[in-house]
Amino acid sequence: MIIRAYHQANNDTKRTKVIVPDSAHGTNPASAAVCGLDVVEVKSTPEGTVDTEHLKQLLGDDVAAMMMTNPNTLGLFEKDIPTITKMVHDCGGLMYYDGANLNPLLGECRPGDMGFDVMHINLHKTFSTPHGGGGPGAGPVGVCKGLEKFLPSPHVVRNGERYEIVENAFGFAPDAPTMNVGTFFGNFAVLMRALTYILTLGKENLKNVGKLATLNANYIKESLKDVYDLPIDVLCKHEFVFDGLKNKDTGIRTMDVAKALLDFGYHAPTIYFPLLFHEAMMIEPTETESKTTIDSFIEVMRLIAKYAETDPQRLKDAPLNTPIGRVDDVLAAKQPITTYKQSLDEQV
Ligand SMILES: *Cc1c(COP(=O)(O)O)cnc(C)c1O
Repeated sequence: MIIRAYHQANNDTKRTKVIVPDSAHGTNPASAAVCGLDVVEVKSTPEGTVDTEHLKQLLGDDVAAMMMTNPNTLGLFEKDIPTITKMVHDCGGLMYYDGANLNPLLGECRPGDMGFDVMHINLHKTFSTPHGGGGPGAGPVGVCKGLEKFLPSPHVVRNGERYEIVENAFGFAPDAPTMNVGTFFGNFAVLMRALTYILTLGKENLKNVGKLATLNANYIKESLKDVYDLPIDVLCKHEFVFDGLKNKDTGIRTMDVAKALLDFGYHAPTIYFPLLFHEAMMIEPTETESKTTIDSFIEVMRLIAKYAETDPQRLKDAPLNTPIGRVDDVLAAKQPITTYKQSLDEQV
């Protein structure tokens, strides 16, 4: 919305295209579509980063923005970022940074220096606030100099030792649409929790987040890649993606591995995302897991790989140790039960 307002204020209304990598999270094209903009996909190279040759063909005076996350969804640092941001800026578009993968960059580098103009921070990805259906989510948005006036008003501004709430603190652009956010204070408790986490870690420890998350991810990757299929075998950042088991003859799918993990007390990783691989399993251990927990996760993953060969039915039947077995995912998504009932029997 900020980017659209910027182009509208410049009377540049033909800019309706938003370029999104094929490895992007669904929320990226969804956000662009919600703003009434058209989503165009840019391909990844076999190495898993943005294909700049393909990008070149998509650029023109109808491009509003390009959205990226760095490191990307495969956990790979987008090494061509300086070229990409220059290409997009040269054609008049703006760069949007999806902050979901900010973890490994904390204290190391800044999206603004890479050429991004607008970004959000997923507090539930990087700063320990509740995640998923349990939410609530909250994500601050940041802009580079020159775009402040397109931020939803009112603004919180610093005045000496105090903060004040000011309407249109940065001078309202007369042509820009008003974008007041409905609940100005947002999820205050969530924001407070993120701030508490940041202050608790402090400057030095915050700098270790990326290093430890990166070390943990690479340690798991290297410890499992002989039994799980690693399509892009390079040094990763805080996460990496397996494409199911290495042995493709067992009939055991990523879904079975994920369900079996529950029996061993592990929350399953993100599965079937990104869409680049059929049996994707995205493993992101974070900075906070101990070596003991990580080693035991590796042990369990290896055990599951062994079961796939010796007793695949055990994995097809998983989970066996949870109150409910396999739910019908499609039914659960199509007909969700959104009201609380006392007993599970009533819901069934
Ligand atoms: C998780 C994720 C998102 C979306 O985050 P929400 O949990 O829906 O706020 C967007 N982009 C990337 C790359 C992600 O990993």
